[in-house]
Amino acid sequence: METLLDGRLKILQGDITECSTDAVVNAANGSLRGGGGVDGAIHRKGGPDILRECMDIRQHRYPEGLPQGKAVITSAGKLPSKYVIHTVSPVWKDGSKNEKEILSMAYKNSLRIATETGLNSIAFPSISTGVCGFPRDIAASVVYKTIKNYLQKKSLPREVYLVFYSEDDLNVFLSSIKSFL
Ligand code: ADP
Repeated sequence: METLLDGRLKILQGDITECSTDAVVNAANGSLRGGGGVDGAIHRKGGPDILRECMDIRQHRYPEGLPQGKAVITSAGKLPSKYVIHTVSPVWKDGSKNEKEILSMAYKNSLRIATETGLNSIAFPSISTGVCGFPRDIAASVVYKTIKNYLQKKSLPREVYLVFYSEDDLNVFLSSIKSFL
């Protein structure tokens, strides 16, 4: 595990559904009904309580769907974490559609919910770099800068984990942020 930002940012390979951080982040879609990839894995392992809460949020707060870059919190069902923070992954088009800004907002809004809920630890998957097609090196610089900037201002969450499913994704991330360290 790589540790950066005075020990507050931890970067590792793993399965986010096994993380016992206070919250894990879901790379959801606007429907909040679950889907493929990490979204499917979280709902499958977490069980039906998460989906029920998501549908309640849809009905009462976001009848049109959760917009890209926004985030909401539910319990974590049978997962080892306490909460799931669902954020909507921006879809990469050509880089000129505010993709970077929206990806940054997805991380920032998830972190903000963690702060407001008083959470010590949060784990993120590599949002948008799967089916949403975000180039991994561009995502890496956005993610690192966003987290660094946020943690400089806030004492909670104390620890942020970036959990990469594949070793290759982990290595691309680490080599992409080298010039910022
Ligand atoms: P997106 O729509 O945000 O691109 P994906 O789920 O397709 O969402 O991919 C996001 C990232 O999550 C990918 O790097 C994928 O390999 C990774 N991923 C898939 N399953 C898991 C898991 N169980 N734990 C951590 N990361 C995962």
